[in-house]
Amino acid sequence: MPVSSDIPISSETKAFDVIIIGAGAAGLMCAAAAAARGRKTIVLDHANKMAKKVLMSGGGRCNFTNLYVEPENFLSHNPHFCKSALSRYTQWDFIALVDKYGIDYYEKTHGQLFCKNSSRDIRDLLMQECQSAGAKIQLKCKIIEITQKLNKESGINQYTLETSLGSFTCDSLVIATGGLSIPTMGASGFGYDIAKQFGHNLYPTQPGLTPLTIKQPKLADFAALAGNAIDVEVSTNHASFKEAMLFTHKGISGPAILQISNYWKPGEPLHINLLPNIICSDWLQENIEKRPEINLKTLLATQFSQSVAGFFVQEIGIDCKLKQLDHPQINQTIQFLTQWTIYPSGFEGYKVAEVTLGGVDTSEISSKTFESQLAQGLYFIGEVLDVTGHLGGFNFQWAWASAQAAGQHV
Ligand SMILES: Cc1cc2nc3c(=O)[nH]c(=O)nc-3n(C[C@H](O)[C@H](O)[C@H](O)COP(=O)(O)OP(=O)(O)OC[C@H]3O[C@@H](n4cnc5c(N)ncnc54)[C@H](O)[C@@H]3O)c2cc1C
Repeated sequence: MPVSSDIPISSETKAFDVIIIGAGAAGLMCAAAAAARGRKTIVLDHANKMAKKVLMSGGGRCNFTNLYVEPENFLSHNPHFCKSALSRYTQWDFIALVDKYGIDYYEKTHGQLFCKNSSRDIRDLLMQECQSAGAKIQLKCKIIEITQKLNKESGINQYTLETSLGSFTCDSLVIATGGLSIPTMGASGFGYDIAKQFGHNLYPTQPGLTPLTIKQPKLADFAALAGNAIDVEVSTNHASFKEAMLFTHKGISGPAILQISNYWKPGEPLHINLLPNIICSDWLQENIEKRPEINLKTLLATQFSQSVAGFFVQEIGIDCKLKQLDHPQINQTIQFLTQWTIYPSGFEGYKVAEVTLGGVDTSEISSKTFESQLAQGLYFIGEVLDVTGHLGGFNFQWAWASAQAAGQHV
């Protein structure tokens, strides 16, 4: 399948109805929708390949949506903003598109839908949608400057883009440049710069869905357990998630930690229930009665690996036979197993974060059309906006929904 028609560098200005900057999930979806309405559309991207994050997503199998999408799955300073687009282009609409292409998929857990074969299936779907609608895609195109001028005859704004491939003009300019995560994949702060240029407010950005780090001397214990995963319920003052947690060489990761990283603030503790699927006090009491001769470490090893059980016993500071546990020690053990408190030292950062929190303030964007309320004809979609989904296919669903909303209007 052809990737793009390379546009020769020329001194002639190339005129389009719609220019979309960013050939990622949102940009390609928007291009297909706009071109399907007969709008002369082109997507410009500085990278050498389109949809790089789609390709690397979901461990190569792209978790493209979720069966249970709710506004509560999204973080934003303006929590109502996402509702309109999400209700107009739902997970069922995207699933119907996936079905149209005969792409095999499966539900992994918590409603998360993954490709059976490869993320390439979703990249190809986007490419095919663009191609059949007649949208052009131009890669390796560096945007140098964007200017806006009012066309006195038509009364509408026209945008001129100076690029490494010459000048382009359009009536509708869509910024779909994503966030700051994974700079090696083409991520840049370009979208934020354009928002600022046109007077938009920005919320501070922060890595989201990212592993958390632990400082020495505690790090040595965590690093020694790297690769061990346990089911936990992790909480901050703001949220709670019941999923797997992974010990790493830098601290902690796994779905539970990625989820909570969207809510955790530096300096705050994390409270971790290490036995979220049982009533810890009943379980301990039952074992004290039934297996009084075994050690606490042996009991913990029925729930965790030997090495993790050893670490927890060391943290509790008790290792004796169950029958020797006195009441304060029983309470101390229960307290530890249900409310282990740790203080991460920070985020592992944009190099590994799946998303970027914060971004373009949505109070200055139409939730119906995604057009800027400050600059007519300018649109922001996808991750560049201050809307961030939970782990589980929600970020792509936001890309699809916001892109479709803008694509119907540009
Ligand atoms: C490792 C990883 C795994 C992920 N897995 C999932 C998952 O399974 N499910 C899920 O829902 N979400 C997942 N995400 C998040 C998801 O990929 C993003 O939320 C989504 O891609 C955002 O779409 P977007 O179109 O807004 O931005 P992007 O997909 O990031 O696209 C932005 C595009 O803009 C281009 N661009 C940037 N700056 C410029 C510039 N200056 N000039 C021209 N072009 C520019 C980039 O090259 C890129 O092509 C994952 C993210 C990562 C990093």
